[in-house]
Amino acid sequence: MTVWDPRATIAAKRDGVTLPQHEVERFVLAYAAGEVDDGPAAAFLMASLLNGLDAAETLAMTRAMISSGDTLSFGRLAQPSVDKHSTGGVADSVTLVFAPLVASLGLAVAKLSGRGLGHTGGTLDKLEAIPGFRTDLEPDRMARQVREIGCAVAAQSPRLVPADGALYALRDATATVPSIPLIAASVMAKKLAVDSDLILLDVKAGSGAFMKTVSEASRLADACRELARGQGRRCGVAITNMDQPLGDAVGNAIDVAEAIEVLRGTHHGNLRDLAVWFAARALTCALGTPFEDARARASAALDDGSALDRFARMVEAQGGDPRVADDPASILPRAGTIVPLVADRAGTVTAMAVEEIGLAAGALGAGRMRKRDPIDPAVGIVIRPKIGDRVEVGEIIGEIHARSEAEAEGAARRTLGALSLGGGPASLPGLVLGWFEPEPSA
Ligand code: URA
Repeated sequence: MTVWDPRATIAAKRDGVTLPQHEVERFVLAYAAGEVDDGPAAAFLMASLLNGLDAAETLAMTRAMISSGDTLSFGRLAQPSVDKHSTGGVADSVTLVFAPLVASLGLAVAKLSGRGLGHTGGTLDKLEAIPGFRTDLEPDRMARQVREIGCAVAAQSPRLVPADGALYALRDATATVPSIPLIAASVMAKKLAVDSDLILLDVKAGSGAFMKTVSEASRLADACRELARGQGRRCGVAITNMDQPLGDAVGNAIDVAEAIEVLRGTHHGNLRDLAVWFAARALTCALGTPFEDARARASAALDDGSALDRFARMVEAQGGDPRVADDPASILPRAGTIVPLVADRAGTVTAMAVEEIGLAAGALGAGRMRKRDPIDPAVGIVIRPKIGDRVEVGEIIGEIHARSEAEAEGAARRTLGALSLGGGPASLPGLVLGWFEPEPSA
């Protein structure tokens, strides 16, 4: 019997060969099992990023990731279940609002989320900023929580899509994130491993996304839809703008605080609008509610406190301190140094280098440089102006939450440098740039 040599797989991908599906599966499963080290796996990822994976290879990678663990099924639920995932953005805390909001509207949400990746933030890192909050839910416990309170947000784990957990962290550390097949496989493995009735994807396009243009984002949307179709699952995909941070907070604890304000109905803007938009889509696709009615119901659930109440119950069920919903400032970790971000020029914001803002927050400690680096949940950047807003010299336009004055100064410099200011009006980006309805399931 010949011994399998992973170097042959890497060399074939390096040389642009299309791999047989079983070869991709074998490599992914061997890495997840610890039989292939990080070095060769990183080389495989880089070769895949540079030379691409075709639809069959991407499907093989997705299936291998799913089969590296268990799948999660809820048995018979009283209500339809929906899952939602973003391909990664900056100040994108939609899931923190969406999951409890949609649960308060009578649907079930069981979501496997990710950690910060590259310059983008991660839902798990944000939720773990809440003292005690656990994302490592066993599949049975996650299913029970969904049955009891209608929502759960958890991590892939040694039992759920472990291969994605391993590859995700390695991609983050090796600059191998922005690849359409690698993102599609990573996102869809987490979605297809959970037996929900409807998957909603938010594919980000713009300077703060992995896909910088709408046409690249459309290709990623197609790759994800293809994987869902192949598994007979209903999947609706929106392409949304990431040419400016979605909310104002780029960190972890500060994002939770902002999401709580949205859940309380006191914070308006793109973060609320997009969470409401996805919640309305969920109601429309799962129950046939007319879209404008669904939108009004979702807005009302933010304004009347029912979504916030569901958030507190989810936090408590996952071991976190539910008082965070009423008093985030006294429960969430606070950075040692908090300084105002002061505009150094005047003008209208015409563009934002959003990736640079995400990287500046990462350098403060909100993201990871290496695979096992801890993050600092308290640090980050609050930046309030959006494209089209006028700022004046000396105006306070946000805050830097840092571990030291020197780090705060560096982050402020980078953030201000990421703003393009002009004299005239700016062209305002739309929020939702495209929508693909879910196809009927097979
Ligand atoms: N979200 C994921 O889960 N995986 C990616 O690769 C990018 C965003």
